[in-house]
Amino acid sequence: MATLTDLQERVHEARITRGFSMEPAQMIAMLAEEVREVARTLKPAWSNKYGNLSKENLSNELADALVCVLALGSRFEIDLERAVEEKFFKSDAKRDRKSELWSLCSFNP
Ligand SMILES: [Mg+2]
Repeated sequence: MATLTDLQERVHEARITRGFSMEPAQMIAMLAEEVREVARTLKPAWSNKYGNLSKENLSNELADALVCVLALGSRFEIDLERAVEEKFFKSDAKRDRKSELWSLCSFNP
């Protein structure tokens, strides 16, 4: 199983090979677009008028968004595996942020 650092490096190399933009403004625009696609895919989770939630589509859009985040990390030479360890597991773990919003979500895996 690849680590997040391995995945980040592979994404970086693939983006170079494919000639993707490394311009931060374009990269953040792509991330915003992919996050919008995640939100669109999740609409059925909160309202049945949007049909059924597709886990395959959600998986694809989350992957697209993650690739954009990993690419931004690489663009600024940030090891995101280490950043998540430091920020989420160490720094943020000291705060109580339990959300009540989870109970409002109608999609329970
Ligand atoms: Mg997408």
